[in-house]
Amino acid sequence: MSQGPYDLAVVGAGIVGLAHALAARRLGKRVIVLDREAANVGASIRNFGFVTVTGQERGAQWCRALRSRDVWDELAGPAGIANLHSGLTLAVQTEEGLAVVESFLATEMGADCRLLDPDTALARYPHLNPEALQGVLESPHERRVEARQAIARLTHWLAEALGVTFAFGVNVRAVDPPRVETSAGPVEAGAIAICPGSDATGPFAERLADYGLSKCKLHMLRAAPLPGTYRQTAAVMGDLSLVRYPGYADLAEAADLTERLEAEPSAGHALAHGIHLIAVQSADGSLVLGDSHAYADAPDPFQPAEVDDAILNVARATLALDDVRVTERWTGVYAACAGRENLIDRPRPDVRQVVITSGTGMSTAFALAEESVGELFDRDPSASPLPV
Ligand SMILES: Cc1cc2nc3c(=O)[nH]c(=O)nc-3n(C[C@H](O)[C@H](O)[C@H](O)COP(=O)(O)OP(=O)(O)OC[C@H]3O[C@@H](n4cnc5c(N)ncnc54)[C@H](O)[C@@H]3O)c2cc1C
Repeated sequence: MSQGPYDLAVVGAGIVGLAHALAARRLGKRVIVLDREAANVGASIRNFGFVTVTGQERGAQWCRALRSRDVWDELAGPAGIANLHSGLTLAVQTEEGLAVVESFLATEMGADCRLLDPDTALARYPHLNPEALQGVLESPHERRVEARQAIARLTHWLAEALGVTFAFGVNVRAVDPPRVETSAGPVEAGAIAICPGSDATGPFAERLADYGLSKCKLHMLRAAPLPGTYRQTAAVMGDLSLVRYPGYADLAEAADLTERLEAEPSAGHALAHGIHLIAVQSADGSLVLGDSHAYADAPDPFQPAEVDDAILNVARATLALDDVRVTERWTGVYAACAGRENLIDRPRPDVRQVVITSGTGMSTAFALAEESVGELFDRDPSASPLPV
């Protein structure tokens, strides 16, 4: 491992760390990324790869998602990261859900979105379940990448095309710029960005403890390609998403929807496990379906079948799925913090700790990293083009 000197050392090679490396390279900085694992096996390869804009918290978070979506578009060609879906179709199955969508459309966030009636929606999206369909919220903003490929390709491209140094299998123990203490010896860097994901035990752990961080465990499933012509061109969500994503859930109309869903046995059971539906399709036709949310300081590693079955029930109620054969099951964990989507902690002028404390890293990390790197170097990386 090259000991430096570097302008920026990034701790963590998940999407947040990679986004920091990219932002710093836009400013022409010399960058090293250090990760204790041999490759990223954290939250960043376990997610849907769903780059969500519509539904993000109103204000700064929604703007971060738009900017991050633009960065994914910028990377698609140079880094070879294919966009598999554009947009979102949110299937509404209750009158209360329709009221939330109508209220959302009246906000500035709804400007480019629209509500389709069931006939129009089904003609356009025949993979939706017609039963109980009241309408579809259509958003043009979203993207979808295959997370496990996208993280590997982004890492490779940052190294090969942008000259970022990567050191995997290297644990960072302490940080005192210009010195970074690692399991492979010291590294010299003028500034340091610690992007540890859900692991709050590293440098400046005591400061992360002050934020009251917890963790969220999610169940994910992959279903085999379906026979016939089933083809999703956009990600699918449903009513349960309207009470989970703050862009909708913070609207006054969401209270009635929550009451209605809690009163229904199937939806109530799903809500008890923090389930809402995201369904995306991969290049081979398989579907990635999820997810559930269980909060704990130390999530257990178990994946009860009851929770997977509840996810599949929501999927069948929303999508025209005759038969689903699950081929992969996995869990993932992200950092969680009540009432907070992310944090940029500033232990010293030349150090930042950046943690996304909600399930939004693939949607917002690029913009958040530009804020954090912009502070460290007193220059806005978003004003600079890709350095290739
Ligand atoms: C199942 C699931 C589905 C999700 N779906 C979506 C989605 O579709 N869209 C979306 O926007 N978001 C989604 N999210 C959220 C998103 O995945 C996370 O917000 C994001 O991946 C967090 O990225 P990260 O880089 O902070 O963490 P990670 O990817 O976990 O990376 C952190 C890295 O830091 C390293 N590290 C930690 N401490 C040290 C140390 N001391 N020394 C060296 N290395 C260290 C770890 O080894 C790890 O590789 C989902 C999350 C999960 C779990």
